[in-house]
Amino acid sequence: MTTSTITLNNGVEIPAIGLGVFQTPPEETVAAVATALRTGYRHIDTAAAYGNEKEVGQGIRESGVPREDIFIESKVWISDYGYDETLHAFEKSAAKLGVEQIDLFILHQALPSAFDKTIAAYKALEQLLADGKVRAIGVSNFMPEHLTQLLEQTDVVPAVNQIELHPYFQQKELVALHRKHGITTQAWSPIGGITSYRESAKRSFDEPVILTIGEKHGKSAAQVMLRWHIQNGVQVIPKSTKAHRIAENFDVFDFELTPDEVAQIDALDTGVRGGPEPDVITLENFGKPIPEA
Ligand code: NDP
Repeated sequence: MTTSTITLNNGVEIPAIGLGVFQTPPEETVAAVATALRTGYRHIDTAAAYGNEKEVGQGIRESGVPREDIFIESKVWISDYGYDETLHAFEKSAAKLGVEQIDLFILHQALPSAFDKTIAAYKALEQLLADGKVRAIGVSNFMPEHLTQLLEQTDVVPAVNQIELHPYFQQKELVALHRKHGITTQAWSPIGGITSYRESAKRSFDEPVILTIGEKHGKSAAQVMLRWHIQNGVQVIPKSTKAHRIAENFDVFDFELTPDEVAQIDALDTGVRGGPEPDVITLENFGKPIPEA
């Protein structure tokens, strides 16, 4: 039986579905967040680098849903890595969101060429956790070698690793490593949004295998993909600014994929990443200042 929450490795519960807001313009963020919360979502995934934390906070307040019922996740950008810098990054994000505590605070990327800075940033997250300023900590876009180094040099096993994950890019070895260490896999671009950002790419929304499965259940391609993740124990954060799609993406708890249907989607992996290779992320090519609150 699939439930609508996932228990993280420190006992904190995260909703199985959250709303993503990457590339949601600030002027559309308030409405998207408030709509999602009124639809039943209880988790919002933002990031300092998205430039819309203030509007996420405003959307939360405008929704009428009590703060304590909402799971807020944000990410520290690489330009704020380092122990003191990351402690300050929390202050900036919390002030923009208008909250005292952030439920899940994660490192947005590893900095492979400056891993000491990545470790210092993670140690700041450990301090924020110990101080009760965050309820859980984690990472994003960490590859197996980054996770291994992190586990060797720090004390708290990340609660999550948020990675690119959709039917065309499944990262099975990394997901197996997460399972081994009790790290929850969070899927970014869970419905393969990234496959539709380039004209030339094969769009997950047009995948015949997924569309055929959807027809059998009376569900859309997006709903089938989200259901596939949830049945695999993967937490999802689909992004939309449109009320009807925000509702559609949440309407995935009234059907179940068969083992054969899950296997058919498992077989769609191409091994081709849509986002940047995590190893090429450096301060020189991806750094940008994160404004004060
Ligand atoms: P998604 O897989 O969520 O797809 C989003 C795209 O699909 C948008 O173009 C959206 O358009 C469209 N869409 C949404 N719902 C539907 C639907 N039901 N049917 C058809 N199209 C739909 O991709 P994202 O890349 O946005 O990833 C989701 C979230 O993951 C981000 O918002 C962010 O929070 C996180 N993320 C994290 C990254 C990281 O490095 N940690 C990197 C990238 C994303 P429209 O808005 O017009 O509906």
